[in-house]
Amino acid sequence: MALRAAWAGSRLLLRRLRDVMAGSGSAQDRLNRIVGIIARDMVAEVCSIYARRAGDVIELFATEGLKSDAVHSVRFRFGEGIVGVVAATARPIALADAQSHPDFAFRPETGEQNYSSMLGVPVLRGGRVLGVLAIQNRTRREYAEEEIETLETVGMVVAELLAGGELVSVLEQQPTDGLGLAPLRLEGVRLSPGLAMGAAVLHQPAYLTGDPVAEDETVELQRLHEAIDAMHSALDGMIERYGSDQAGDHLDILRTYRMFAEDQGWIRRIREAIGTGLTAEAAVIRVQSDMRARMALVKDAYIQERLSDFEDLTGRLIQHLAGETAQQAARQRDLPEDAILVARNMGPADLLDYEDSQINGVVLEEGSAAAHVAIVAKALDIPVVGRITGAMTRIEPGDRLVVDGANGVCFVRPNDDFQRTFARSMALHAERKAAYARDAALPSVTKDGVPITLNMNAGLLIDLPHLREMGGAGIGLYRTEVPFMVRSEFPDVAAQERLYTAILEQSDGKPVVFRTLDIGGDKIPTYIQEMGEENPAMGWRAVRIGLDRPALLRAQLRALVQASSGRPLYVMFPMIAQTAEMIRARALVDIELERAVERGLPGPSLVRVGAMLEVPSLAYQLASLKRHVDFLSVGSNDLLQFLFASDRGNPKLDGRYDPLSPAMLGMLKSIAETCRTHEIELSLCGEMAGSPVDAMALIGLGYRTLSMNATAIGPVRALVRSIDAGAVTELIESHLQSGAHSLRSVLKSYAVDRGVQI
Ligand code: PEP
Ligand code: MG
Repeated sequence: MALRAAWAGSRLLLRRLRDVMAGSGSAQDRLNRIVGIIARDMVAEVCSIYARRAGDVIELFATEGLKSDAVHSVRFRFGEGIVGVVAATARPIALADAQSHPDFAFRPETGEQNYSSMLGVPVLRGGRVLGVLAIQNRTRREYAEEEIETLETVGMVVAELLAGGELVSVLEQQPTDGLGLAPLRLEGVRLSPGLAMGAAVLHQPAYLTGDPVAEDETVELQRLHEAIDAMHSALDGMIERYGSDQAGDHLDILRTYRMFAEDQGWIRRIREAIGTGLTAEAAVIRVQSDMRARMALVKDAYIQERLSDFEDLTGRLIQHLAGETAQQAARQRDLPEDAILVARNMGPADLLDYEDSQINGVVLEEGSAAAHVAIVAKALDIPVVGRITGAMTRIEPGDRLVVDGANGVCFVRPNDDFQRTFARSMALHAERKAAYARDAALPSVTKDGVPITLNMNAGLLIDLPHLREMGGAGIGLYRTEVPFMVRSEFPDVAAQERLYTAILEQSDGKPVVFRTLDIGGDKIPTYIQEMGEENPAMGWRAVRIGLDRPALLRAQLRALVQASSGRPLYVMFPMIAQTAEMIRARALVDIELERAVERGLPGPSLVRVGAMLEVPSLAYQLASLKRHVDFLSVGSNDLLQFLFASDRGNPKLDGRYDPLSPAMLGMLKSIAETCRTHEIELSLCGEMAGSPVDAMALIGLGYRTLSMNATAIGPVRALVRSIDAGAVTELIESHLQSGAHSLRSVLKSYAVDRGVQI
């Protein structure tokens, strides 16, 4: 509602500004007139426009209300003063009492001591800050949301003037980081592992290339209508293409995305924006920036990912408005053979538009591990580094880039020496990968003859081919929630049964341990309402939801029972904290098995039911638990977080407590011993299993079955074949009481001395 009012109010203002833009006079003259019009229209005593100059500085270019001497002499660095903060953060700031704000930087030559309140918005184009537009008022006043939105829309018009090159030369607007072409090391987070080197290609910057003010509303609505239709058919084509080669989860992701493309709220808002006098392109971009600002405040990872899908659609719609499909645009663009895509964010369909053989890597300003684009990139074996601040402005098209997906780092314009070194390590990496694949058939037995079962963790159908490639013994953890997260609605029994059947069919007859839904915590599908928990990791999640909402869990168990007809069924419950929960969960499996018998369905050939040990309390109930489980799998990720009361998703605590700390090792040791006493089959499926040093410790503590990501199987097999399990047990025993923060360095030195492959 507020938005509609704001836009209706801005229509006249936009028209007036358009007339000035189209009128005579130099760009500076037009800018001077524009500030006057905005000040009057928005009932402000001051309106100023600052333009970005080289070296991340913004300079006052025009003002109504401040002293005219200040024009072209007052400058702020990015982050300095309120306007500098608006420029640096690319977000609006509205202050009733600007002078008492900690970032206020007083410049006497402006005469701004007379003004109390201030509203500043960034002038953005193609995701880059070109300047700042600010209004000020003498009296203290709160700026309404509609006023902020109006000023942001006006900023789009100002952006066209600033980008024209007459005020600040185009050359000066080129980002250089203030460092010339110096090499840069940009740190982000790992979204898809692997190493890549190549030339930067800026991905689809969605910006306007024409006048944002429309001539005729009906024409614009018609153009929008046609572009949306064209976009829908192009997406349908993509779904068909990827559907035919059974890309399973790819397809789910695309279908979800296709559903967003039909979101009536989104389309309605674009239509409303056209109603305020904008062209269809400008309206699409206006709605996008509004959505971005609103959703930036929402922490939920899945809502954030929804936003990136919408951003992807924005770019796509703009392309269709320009009369070409995104795919044509991506293909037509002269892609180098070794392209590294640089984007603020990308949707999954966007990545699939490119020829994947030409894409070596991806660098994103945003993104999270749960992002659809990360899931697709992993499947295509494309390394991705995310959350690199300012990637779009700090990297120029054609720059040489090195992407280290495993460490979440990107090197920009590395020197020749570095490139040579990196090329060597890439070659080594590839060689090692090939060697692991060659060794996939070798037995996984320690030097002193202890066999270690190496299983694979999976969550998507596209993970399954790796099971054979890497020689995994089976799937030790199939995270069933992953496909639930990428769907637009809760899959029914039939859909789940189809998925589980496909998994079982593609696993070469090797066992697959299905973990029942571990939703809740940070994993909330979009179709389940926001749970609003204060401590989600310790909240209503996993089997707790399953036991309280048995219909949900029974639907999943029914699908599993039906899918495994004639085959063994392994099912495991997450977050079991007490034996009583296990009894109740197991009873649900029995009900579903009986149901299958009653209906004359074939049912599984063997049923093994297990629990995950990831809540410390369960370690003290193994004696009573043993009668109710066929196996136990330690979830070391959650176990570590609950043992140390340390949120596993909080970057501030990252690395603070090591899984190789004496406390964690002591706990793991006691679990292994108790399981031996009670003859409970034991495995471990957290991240520890996939790190060679950690795996070495686990073997020393008595773990004989480990489940890990596909890429870890090769390195862990090499480790197993190079250690003496008995010697490692002794080593750990002798250090468990040492009081050290971690035994990692002791274990590493031991490995280096003995030629153990870590
Ligand atoms: C674990 O907690 O160690 C585990 C394997 O489960 P997830 O990482 O899916 O919580
Ligand atoms: Mg867990």
